[in-house]
Amino acid sequence: MHGAKRASTAGRWTQRSAPMVLSDTHLLGAVGGHWFDKLRREWQMERAFQTALWLLRPEIVFILGDIFDEGKWSSQKHWEDDVRRFHRMFRHSTDTELVVLVGNHDIGFHYEMDWFKLQRFEKVFNASSTRIVTKKGVNFLLVNSVALHGDGCPICQSVEKELIKLSRDLNCSLQSSQSGGGLTDSCEGSQLYPPTSPIMLQHYPLYRVSDAGCTGLDAAPPEERHLLFREKYDVLSKEASQRLLQWFKPRLILSGHTHSGCEVLHDNKYPEVSVPSFSWRNRNNPSFILASVSPGSYALSKVFPAGGEHGDRRVLLGRRLPAAADPRSLYVDERPAAVPQPLPAGEAQVSVNYITQGAYYIRHKEQSHELVNT
Ligand SMILES: [Zn+2]
Repeated sequence: MHGAKRASTAGRWTQRSAPMVLSDTHLLGAVGGHWFDKLRREWQMERAFQTALWLLRPEIVFILGDIFDEGKWSSQKHWEDDVRRFHRMFRHSTDTELVVLVGNHDIGFHYEMDWFKLQRFEKVFNASSTRIVTKKGVNFLLVNSVALHGDGCPICQSVEKELIKLSRDLNCSLQSSQSGGGLTDSCEGSQLYPPTSPIMLQHYPLYRVSDAGCTGLDAAPPEERHLLFREKYDVLSKEASQRLLQWFKPRLILSGHTHSGCEVLHDNKYPEVSVPSFSWRNRNNPSFILASVSPGSYALSKVFPAGGEHGDRRVLLGRRLPAAADPRSLYVDERPAAVPQPLPAGEAQVSVNYITQGAYYIRHKEQSHELVNT
């Protein structure tokens, strides 16, 4: 079955960026974590991550923040220990680039955040927390969403300034391509990117009332779905969310923080996917997103690295699953109404959710759902 499919889809994959996206690893710190829980969760994540790298060979991996549980208060010694364990668990070859975004547990909520914590985080990952990463003509916009309080705090000001510059650069890039290379005076000195709207990555979700409309096997539990989100703590403020949408008109938003899955459509135009936590401490069925992205389209698969609710030891022990032996055997089809063919037993864990751009069609175990409108 997969032999034929591999041949027909191989060409597509070579022209696409195929990032892997995960979130909220929450490496336990010295204060909050019991040593055995820590050992167990870190072993699970390490095995799942290393197996995914080995099977899927992604060229780039994004982690959407809350890498550490206690970066917000850890002493230098404990911080260094957390960082050392992170590098061991998420080790990768030079063929894979690991890009890490900042979350509130890494540097503290807005009121706890300071330059020292932000800079020590940025130094470990050798990059600014707000920037654009371009791969195969696709712009990935990384946002420090902890600094979008809009209260004029010095870090907020600096991040906003950076975002305004990036928005201008992207607009000028679009203008330049539409006018055949010409730039208006206001675009003088701007940095040019591929002329497509970005895929926006951040820790906090954009503003939504609650998770009441979220569906799927990894949505928040029914008793929690109706709890109202607090602006600036659970989700970005309405104002900051609108500003980001206006500045960047992103074609897709991927965010973390809630630890649960959800798909949301903002202003009837901008789809957002909440990426659940990758830690078994936070949920029984952690997952990551495997995307296939070109400058004009994308398809997302949600991958449950350990199969069913309580984990699949076959994957955790790093044994090769026949279904996932080759990333090209993953089903990728962009026709909005196409129903993916049923997978043989043992393959279902590789691609459970299926999202395409255009019709915002999503599949959860053979049922289709509309995205939640905000
Ligand atoms: Zn968080």
